[in-house]
Amino acid sequence: MSESQATWDLAPAPESIGHVHWEKSYGLFINGQFQPSSGDQTFGSINPATEERIAEITEATDADVDQAVKAARNAYEKVWSKMAARERGKYIFRIARLLQEKAREFAVIESLDGGKPIRESRDIDIPLAAAHFFYHAGWADKLEYAFPNRKPKSLGVAGQVIPWNFPLLMAAWKIAPALATGNTVVLKPAETTSLTALKLAEIFQQAELPPGVVNIVTGHGSVGAAIVNHNNVNKIAFTGSTRVGKIIQKAIAGSKKRCTLELGGKAANIIFDDATIDQAVEGIINGIYFNQGHVCCAGSRLFVQESVHDEVIHKLKHRMNSLIVGDPLDKNTDIGAINSKDQLQTINQYIELGKQEGADFYQPQCNLPAKGNWCRPTLFTDVAQSNRIVQEEIFGPVLAVQTFRTVDEVINKANNTPYGLSAGVWTDKGSKIFNMTSQLRAGVIWANTYNKFDPASPFGGYKESGFGREGGLHGLAGYLDF
Ligand code: NAP
Ligand code: MG
Repeated sequence: MSESQATWDLAPAPESIGHVHWEKSYGLFINGQFQPSSGDQTFGSINPATEERIAEITEATDADVDQAVKAARNAYEKVWSKMAARERGKYIFRIARLLQEKAREFAVIESLDGGKPIRESRDIDIPLAAAHFFYHAGWADKLEYAFPNRKPKSLGVAGQVIPWNFPLLMAAWKIAPALATGNTVVLKPAETTSLTALKLAEIFQQAELPPGVVNIVTGHGSVGAAIVNHNNVNKIAFTGSTRVGKIIQKAIAGSKKRCTLELGGKAANIIFDDATIDQAVEGIINGIYFNQGHVCCAGSRLFVQESVHDEVIHKLKHRMNSLIVGDPLDKNTDIGAINSKDQLQTINQYIELGKQEGADFYQPQCNLPAKGNWCRPTLFTDVAQSNRIVQEEIFGPVLAVQTFRTVDEVINKANNTPYGLSAGVWTDKGSKIFNMTSQLRAGVIWANTYNKFDPASPFGGYKESGFGREGGLHGLAGYLDF
């Protein structure tokens, strides 16, 4: 079969949105209630697949952030830190169960607001978010067992700022461990994807979580900055770009604030000639085209051992031709909408740059919907290590391929990046996997798989990918003093 032949045509299978409810406008969630801002600014949340404005979101002011921090402090001192840990655990269990019950509704809203395929929000984002609450609920009254002989103590108020690529999941990664360790929270979602965080606030109300334990303030970057700079916040947990991570580090330098930063990445996905090639090709596809490449740990640099290069690229192009780009609500869709016009512009600039840098460019010629933000899966071969498309994070469905001959060569090339978040290794040999995992400077390394997450498994980076871990005992420790 030729590379350009699509393998099949599937009839549309759109998820119904009849059962889904969200408000047309949302206030700020402070002290257990939705309330208007002290200012009068609002902004629209856009469905990136249709360009429709689907809800009106409130822009918090500094005074609103201050009120949210006060509510969190008050709840921490009067209620949450005084409550028996097993009672705190019950609330977290309740949140997890409610989220599980409403999983379909959350999945649809996540896809509508953010553009990701329903198959992913349904099978990955929402179940993993619930799993994070379940996992951390279990730890709430067992912290002395998690950290024997160390007397774990909560920190106080955690200020949390999250990005748009996994909106609900990032909220769960932040809120669940903070609550399990006895802290209270002020969280800001990304401005393009506030809806599921606000729906989560409705779940907090239904779970009768005491007012002020979690507060959600929406808005642009300045709202994140107001949280970071607030002098009554004890810990900053940030996931986002390295650029903003650096601003945050400067802002809190010299203060006693604790901090974890989960930043950008430029992961190496490494295919040896003894790998099962078909399985590896699926892993490459999943590694970079999953969630439109809006993944900090995306396998955006592919390293293929020279002897299997032609076979891998041939199979990869063939598989790319069968990817369906389009309606995020369609269950057959593989690649949904790019989250925002700005991000689409950034990706397109990098694609142009890759062509100018002289790399070989390939895209399948699949149809794209007339309206919305779309990008075809993109492949650059024949790239040089110094090319910007190899060095910089693109955060879109763009893969850059290099070849290698020896293990030492690929380790050198893979580590030659300012980032160090994740990597993938595909080989038949366990010894090679252990050798690679001990030498690659990446926080998470997958072997013969890619993009797998579990609440018990710590996630985080080296170098400019940040510091601190989320998930597992390491994640809990980030919210505790000893
Ligand atoms: P971003 O621009 O850094 O934004 C992240 C969050 O910070 C958003 O809520 C943003 O608000 C807010 N923000 C902006 N300026 C701020 C400031 N000066 N002070 C405090 N907060 C501020 O990143 P993004 O474009 O949303 O997300 C993509 C980046 O996140 C990529 O680099 C990706 O690698 C990284 N990421 C990392 C991980 C990880 O675990 N390591 C996971 C996911 C994503 P607005 O939305 O209003 O701009
Ligand atoms: Mg949106």
